[in-house]
Amino acid sequence: MKVAIVGGGPAGMMAAIKASSDNQNEVFLFEKNEKLGKKLFITGKGRCNVTNACDIFLFKNYIMRNQKFLLSSLSKFSNKDLMKFLEMNNCPIKIERGLRVFPKSDKSFAITDCFKKVMKENGVKVLLNSEVIDIICDENTKAFKDTKEEKRASYTVKAIQYKNLKNNKISKIEIDKIIVATGGISYKSTGSTGDGYKFAKKFDIRINDLLPVLVPMGVNGDFTELNGLLLKNIGAKFFSSDKLLYESFGDIEFYKYGITGPIILSASSYLFDKDNLLIKNINDNEFNLKDKLKLLIDLKPALSHKQLDERLIREIEKLKGSDSVDLLLIKLLPKKMVSFFRKNIFKDENFTISKIDKTYRKKILDLLKNFEIEIVSSRGFNEAIVTRGGVDCNELNPKNMECKKVKGLYFAGEVVDVDCLTGGFNITVAASMGYVAGSKEV
Ligand SMILES: Cc1cc2nc3c(=O)[nH]c(=O)nc-3n(C[C@H](O)[C@H](O)[C@H](O)COP(=O)(O)OP(=O)(O)OC[C@H]3O[C@@H](n4cnc5c(N)ncnc54)[C@H](O)[C@@H]3O)c2cc1C
Repeated sequence: MKVAIVGGGPAGMMAAIKASSDNQNEVFLFEKNEKLGKKLFITGKGRCNVTNACDIFLFKNYIMRNQKFLLSSLSKFSNKDLMKFLEMNNCPIKIERGLRVFPKSDKSFAITDCFKKVMKENGVKVLLNSEVIDIICDENTKAFKDTKEEKRASYTVKAIQYKNLKNNKISKIEIDKIIVATGGISYKSTGSTGDGYKFAKKFDIRINDLLPVLVPMGVNGDFTELNGLLLKNIGAKFFSSDKLLYESFGDIEFYKYGITGPIILSASSYLFDKDNLLIKNINDNEFNLKDKLKLLIDLKPALSHKQLDERLIREIEKLKGSDSVDLLLIKLLPKKMVSFFRKNIFKDENFTISKIDKTYRKKILDLLKNFEIEIVSSRGFNEAIVTRGGVDCNELNPKNMECKKVKGLYFAGEVVDVDCLTGGFNITVAASMGYVAGSKEV
């Protein structure tokens, strides 16, 4: 059987490996970039958090969309199978905080090299700089359809057309099975430009609305002077009209366009869902929120108000006679926050420590325990770790990822409407779907 795989990310490479393990198959992998795994290369800040070593029963808690759909592929190729696969193929791995799995070398290319090695051993024909531009199918005639069971596919895969991006030559090859693993539309510069959705639309395959998730948030107000500040081990509560929507503990980082960091990315996945209508006015770089969110940061989560006030009193006592309130603030805050806090609490530049009374102590406490930020937008696809939405899972057979409408056409990876939280889960589900799509027919 001739098998074509479109896209050389984790889903496509794993599909190619599995399909080529059957030596009856001739397997072609088309990748429009000059190299494989361009997105994989930047994952985990260049270290690639390739999977998570958690128990498979817990794994499903990290799947945000279409959990049930993925259970079938995960039962055939799980996080533990991916770990075994890497170790068996000379890619040693290590487990870090939160059971995150990384290559021992701390280099993401070790993962791509491992996939490449196995593909080479299996004889996969990798075509780089080769953009698939069309998928050609035969339309199954009505007569043919009527003779078969009701759910008969409307089309059957016939050929693939691709363009060599070096010389612009267009070629066509006859194919029996096509696996589309083109990724989502986040970080487009890595090659995930949404081509898979175009192929799906051609055959009336339903595409669910696309949303950026695991994405930074835009804020109201001027936080420029906090740019680059990383707040560690803080508490965060997100409210909409005073209703608590999400609560977490961890790190937040201020950056050029707002706030990011683990808490923010995970919160975006829980909160920015079209279903609860938080988002409107789509443009690629920024999505406005229908309802603004209030974020309250607790900079001292380990101390109660009372304990913190007692500490303040002690510090003020020790610093009596000193002029600058900065001397007090530096004991309570990261350096970058001192002038920001001073301006917010003590409007008068010449305010001295001796003037801090109960009212000012309350103001300091309020800011430390309830530092308020108004969230007004979600940043766009260019900054999103994953794309939510995509090929509707109801269009696919969860056992092998084949389209119900097109015989011989399969979808795997981020192009499908599944997404997970951070921690190595997204690469795992992409590889898992790729594995079952590349398997022999079920
Ligand atoms: C900055 C960042 C960090 C991340 N870190 C992690 C992490 O540490 N752990 C984790 O689990 N997940 C992480 N992710 C998410 C993870 O990278 C993706 O979910 C995963 O790569 C999806 O795999 P995929 O194979 O479906 O798609 P992709 O990896 O996007 O691969 C799709 C491939 O298809 C190719 N392609 C597209 N169209 C065509 C066409 N027409 N013809 C030929 N080729 C085509 C593209 O060039 C691309 O190479 C991160 C994402 C980003 C952006």
